[in-house]
Amino acid sequence: MPFDLLIRGGHVLDPGQGLDGVLDIGIEGSTITAVAADLPADRAGQVIDAGGPGRYVVPGLIDIHTHVAHGATTPGVGMECCEPDSIGVESGVTTVVDCGSVGVANIGVFPVHIQPRAATRTICFANAACYAHTMPGLSDMRTVDELDLSAMRLCVEHNPGLVQGIKLRLVGAIAAEQGEELIRRATAMATEQDVPLMIHIGDFGRDDPAHRVRMAELTSFLLEHLRPGDILTHLCTPNPGGVLDGGGLALPALRKARENGIALDSALGRGNFGYAVAAELARQGIFPDTISSDLTVYGADFHSLVECMAKFMAIGYSLSDVVRMTTANAAGAIGLSDELGALAVGREADVTIIDVVEGDFTFLDTTDTTFTGRHGIAPVQTVRAGRLFAPRWGTHPWGWLPAPSRR
Ligand SMILES: [Zn+2]
Repeated sequence: MPFDLLIRGGHVLDPGQGLDGVLDIGIEGSTITAVAADLPADRAGQVIDAGGPGRYVVPGLIDIHTHVAHGATTPGVGMECCEPDSIGVESGVTTVVDCGSVGVANIGVFPVHIQPRAATRTICFANAACYAHTMPGLSDMRTVDELDLSAMRLCVEHNPGLVQGIKLRLVGAIAAEQGEELIRRATAMATEQDVPLMIHIGDFGRDDPAHRVRMAELTSFLLEHLRPGDILTHLCTPNPGGVLDGGGLALPALRKARENGIALDSALGRGNFGYAVAAELARQGIFPDTISSDLTVYGADFHSLVECMAKFMAIGYSLSDVVRMTTANAAGAIGLSDELGALAVGREADVTIIDVVEGDFTFLDTTDTTFTGRHGIAPVQTVRAGRLFAPRWGTHPWGWLPAPSRR
C-alpha cells in the first residue's frame, strides 16, 4: 500500500499506548494508516528517516494552556498573544488550547481570524468574564456580573462547537472578596455548556500573610467544588493561592480532588512555576497530569513547551512521563482522548519528532531560583494532519535547547 509520507526507523515513544521501540509510521492524506516495523518505502511519496541517537517519534504534542488570540488584544485582555503556528507546528506542537484570552465580548476573532489561518489545531476555552480580564492591577474584573450566563448561552448558540471549555482566573481584589461567588457562577456556566472548567490559581497581584491565608482558603473551596473533568491550572505556583499550606504540605482538598478526577495542569508560564513547589509536590507523591506552557508573547522569546518538559525532567520525571503529560494525558484533560494523543491507525496524522540532548543545562523558575538538569529537548519535524512543518529557529538566540550551565 503506498504512503504519501513514511516516517521510517524512528524510536516511537507513545506512553499512552505503551509503544516504546523502533517502528515506522505510514500516512495517507491526513490519516495514519500503518504503525508497524519495516513498512515498504519504495512507493512512499516522501520518506523521513527518523533514526539516530536521542531521536524520538511521539504523538503530536498538545499544549493545553496557551494564549494565541493573536491580534485580538484589547485593554480588557491586557496581555499579548502568540501567533498560533509560531508556538504550535513551528515549535513541535500540533494542538494548542487558548485559555481565556477572549471572552464573549471579543470571541468572534477566533472563528474569523485565528482558526482559519492556523495550521495548528487551535481550541478555544472562553474566559468566563465577558471582557476577558486577566492581569491583576492592569485590568481587574470589577463585578461578578461580568460572568454573564445568558451572554455565554447566546454566544454558544451562535457559534456551535467554538467554546470547548470555560476559563476562570482567580486573581485580583475581586477574587479575594468574592471568589466563592466567581467559582459558583463559572461552574454553573461550564455545567450549562457541558464543557470543562479550567481555573487559574496563583495571585501575583499582592503577597502578604493575610492574603496568603485567604487565597489558600479559596483554593480549598474551589478544589471541593470542581467537577470531575475540570482542570486546575498552575499547580506549581509559588504565589498566594498555591496548593501547599503554610507548613509546606499539600492541601488535603488537593488529594481529594485528584481522587475525584480533577485534572492537575502545571502551566509554567512566566509567573507561576516554583521549582521548590514542583519538587515538594513530587516528593509528596502529587504529580501533575499535564505539562503546558502558558505562553504569551512575553514568554515566547525564552521558553517553549519542550523546555517545560525538560524542566520536569530536571525535577526527576522520565522522558516517558513528560511525553505522556503532553500527549495522552493532555488529550484526556481536554476530553479528546478518542481523537488526539496517540499514534494509531485511523487517527489524524499528528506526529512530533524530537531530539533529546544530554548536557548540563540551567533553568530559571518564576522566583528567579536556578536549577539544573541533564536533558534538553528540541523539535526536529512536526506533522500536522499529514502536512510537514519544519521548526523555527528556537526560543533562544542559540536555538531550542535550554541555557548551558556555566562551569
Ligand atoms: Zn494563562
